[in-house]
Amino acid sequence: MRPTTATTATASTTATAADGTSAVTVIGYGPAAHRLVQRLRHHGHRGPVTVFGAEPQPAYQRAQLTSILDGTLSAGALTLAPLPADVEVRTGTRITAVDPRRRLVRAEDGTEHPYGILVLATGSRPVLPHLAGAGRHAPGLRVPHTLRGARPVTKGPVVVVGGGLRGTEAAYALGRAGHDVTLVHPGAHPMHRLLDGRAGALVTAALREAGAVAETGRRVVAVEPGKALLDDGRLLAAGTLLLCTGSAPDTALARTARLAVRHGVVVDDRLRTSDPYIYALGDCARPAGRHHGTLESAWDEADALARTLCGADSGPVAARYVVRPRLPALAVLGPPDALHAPGDRDEHVVLSDPARGRYGRLVLREGRVRAGVLVGLDRAVATVGRLYTEDRPLPPDRLALLLGTDEEYTGGSALPDTAVVCHCNNVTGKDLRQACRQGAHDLPAIAAATRATTGCGTCAEAVRRICATAAAS
Ligand SMILES: Cc1cc2nc3c(=O)[nH]c(=O)nc-3n(C[C@H](O)[C@H](O)[C@H](O)COP(=O)(O)OP(=O)(O)OC[C@H]3O[C@@H](n4cnc5c(N)ncnc54)[C@H](O)[C@@H]3O)c2cc1C
Repeated sequence: MRPTTATTATASTTATAADGTSAVTVIGYGPAAHRLVQRLRHHGHRGPVTVFGAEPQPAYQRAQLTSILDGTLSAGALTLAPLPADVEVRTGTRITAVDPRRRLVRAEDGTEHPYGILVLATGSRPVLPHLAGAGRHAPGLRVPHTLRGARPVTKGPVVVVGGGLRGTEAAYALGRAGHDVTLVHPGAHPMHRLLDGRAGALVTAALREAGAVAETGRRVVAVEPGKALLDDGRLLAAGTLLLCTGSAPDTALARTARLAVRHGVVVDDRLRTSDPYIYALGDCARPAGRHHGTLESAWDEADALARTLCGADSGPVAARYVVRPRLPALAVLGPPDALHAPGDRDEHVVLSDPARGRYGRLVLREGRVRAGVLVGLDRAVATVGRLYTEDRPLPPDRLALLLGTDEEYTGGSALPDTAVVCHCNNVTGKDLRQACRQGAHDLPAIAAATRATTGCGTCAEAVRRICATAAAS
């Protein structure tokens, strides 16, 4: 049967310029696509916008899936705000091919849709190990990469395979929720690619305190019904087996368009791919200097691309790397190689207080944070994170900053309105002060009004201080 050509997007022949009126088609409906479309309208884009998402649900906050696994949040709580009514959103529609010559995309039902400007926001796909005995649908085996895979865990004991960011976060959350959890990780300590040994030891201790056992230097090599076999021959009981073995940019669609792909879709500093009408952003893209996709980098890229598509030049997209997992006051700033192999010109600031579970290590260049890891230093997480993302110099007393005793920097009134305080939900100082003025005076009320603190939770202390300052004034 001849495929039909849908008439939903305007004919593309005249819609080629990035001038704020082009018809924009976005493939993928995750946080990057969602933010892009919001910012397009914010910056005055007037042309038609169509979004295709393969998953049946509207866009949701993927970085908070762990809160579904442990039952802290319901699936609905992760759903992002609806897009403006004039945006056409087609959920449950996977695009299977892009034809750049005819400038159209093909959906899996065979329909074809022309585009003016195409944006790929296809995110990442899980990387799964070969495990003997593990068919795709082995009982109890799950990949918590989507809402479907991350439904609440009800059957224990739980074995989490892979102690990177997501596996460690999942093991910690499930341990705290009262499950019997073992985290199996091949590295010397959890999150060994992101954290140095001292930070890793504190995270291991936090896991232990939460009731989760870390089996480091070990791999799961096979599964049997209700069991996982380790490479040292031990069998672990596993009512639920969570595969958290990493993810990789989803470039399948980009390849159908013969775009340049090198680990991710290759884009320049304006997020242009090798085709002049196609852009890419978020986890599927690989701008120079960015090694991993994070929520913040996806948001920064969405804002920059929206400006570009509205005809403004926002300059090159900054490659900022910030990760705040749902673990006690943990933040990782900058690319991991800058932390593990700093340059000769770099200055180091280290604070180590293992007895109280506190550790901070900053790598500075010309007085600015190049990389860093902070554990248990909740007052410093928000402030140092902001100085890093805004590329501002640190105050002279670095230890006071880490300890949170530098009132000028860590006091609630010091945070400007535009500063993002809750990075998981993009809540600014202004949003919080407004919520306080409107009667939200404690953390639960502020969380209900703004969603601040409902992600990793590391902003709770900063939120409390801002609200106390706002209430006092
Ligand atoms: C469990 C977990 C925990 C995480 N924790 C953190 C964290 O603490 N901090 C952090 O910064 N980041 C974290 N991340 C990463 C963060 O979620 C991503 O950086 C962010 O979701 C990227 O957004 P995106 O829109 O680029 O991609 P995605 O969120 O992956 O969305 C892409 C969407 O595109 C759809 N799609 C793909 N191909 C097609 C197609 N051909 N047609 C139609 N639709 C398609 C997919 O189905 C998907 O819905 C975590 C991720 C996971 C899975």
